[in-house]
Order: sequence, then structure tokens, then C-alpha cells
Amino acid sequence: MTSDNSNHYPRPLIEQADLEAKIGELAAAVTRDYRDSERLVAIGVLKGSVFFLVDLLKRVDLAPLEVDFFQTSSYGAATEPGEVKILKDVDVSVRGADVLLIEDIVDTGYTLRTILDLLRFRKAKSVRLCTLLDKPSRRKVDVPIDYCGFQIEDLFVVGYGLDYNERFRNLPYIGVYEGEIR
Ligand code: 5GP
Repeated sequence: MTSDNSNHYPRPLIEQADLEAKIGELAAAVTRDYRDSERLVAIGVLKGSVFFLVDLLKRVDLAPLEVDFFQTSSYGAATEPGEVKILKDVDVSVRGADVLLIEDIVDTGYTLRTILDLLRFRKAKSVRLCTLLDKPSRRKVDVPIDYCGFQIEDLFVVGYGLDYNERFRNLPYIGVYEGEIR
């Protein structure tokens, strides 16, 4: 028996139907904005963005686009806040491409700041950011968000790709994790 709440279903914050409706709106906006793009590369940040990326891109009505992934992690408490480690780089060259960066949630902004700087350094033609969730009250560095699903308060959320210790990613909704965070 566990004494924490890790086996309880998280309290729903954003229901599946609301996610689907919002993703439809975002996909329509992306389709409209990239109609004239000569080369669009959609890049997700593993692992949290995967559910969102798949559902979004299936509804983007454009000529074939490329899909790739970064994986990042923070270095932990012993280092400078904001240092982000790239665990997996993209396989494709982004030089001259329109890049749509797809993220699950923007919190401090450090992860996306690092990736945006890298993509600019590699001479992407344009970079836009699409995030399902945004926690603006937690921001430490500015990141321009072009497409945003939902702004939320400073809560620890799980589900629809987001985890707590690798669990809960498979929930079809966004919920608030109310167990102890270790
Ligand atoms: P940032 O670099 O913006 O601080 O952090 C972004 C990453 O932190 C997200 O991609 C996600 O992995 C993680 N993160 C931030 N807030 C939450 C949250 O409420 N729940 C979960 N599961 N992960 C979060």
C-alpha cells in the first residue's frame, strides 16, 4: 500500500472534449499560416509533447511536412538555474526551413529559450512556437508564444503526455496532480 496519492486519478482540469476542440482551432491556424511555406519542419520536445503533436499534426491540412524531435532535461538543483541539457538532437537540418516548435507546457521558459536560440543559430528561416499549455506566472525568461492552447495557474499538471515520474502520460485529459511531489 502506498500512503501518497500516486494511484489516484488526478483531478480533471481540462477535459478531453475541450482539448480536442482547442487542437482543432490550433490546427486550422497552423494550416492557414503555413499555406505558402516551401519547407515546414514540425519539431516536438520529448516526451511530453508527443500526444499533442500527433493529434495536432493529423489535423494540419498541408502538403507533406517533416517531423522531428528534441529531448531535453534540466541539470538539476546543483547547477545554475536555466541550464538545459540536450539529450537528443534533431536528425534533420533546419537551415532555411520554417520550423514549428511544439511543446506540452511552457513553465520557466528556459527549455524553449535554449531551443529557440539553437534553431536561430542554425539559420532556420523562421521559428514559431506552439504550446498546449502556458503557465505565465512561472516565467523566468521571455519566450514568444505564437499558438497557445490554454493558460493555466501555477499547478502541477499531468496527463495527455505530461508525467509525474513517468506516470500518467496516457490519461486522455489534463489533470492536477495532488500527491506529494518528490
Ligand atoms: P521550462 O523549461 O519552461 O521551465 O519547463 C518546461 C518543461 O518542464 C516541460 O516541457 C515539462 O516537461 C516540465 N513541466 C513544467 N511544468 C510542468 C507541469 O505542471 N507538469 C509536468 N508534468 N511537467 C511540467
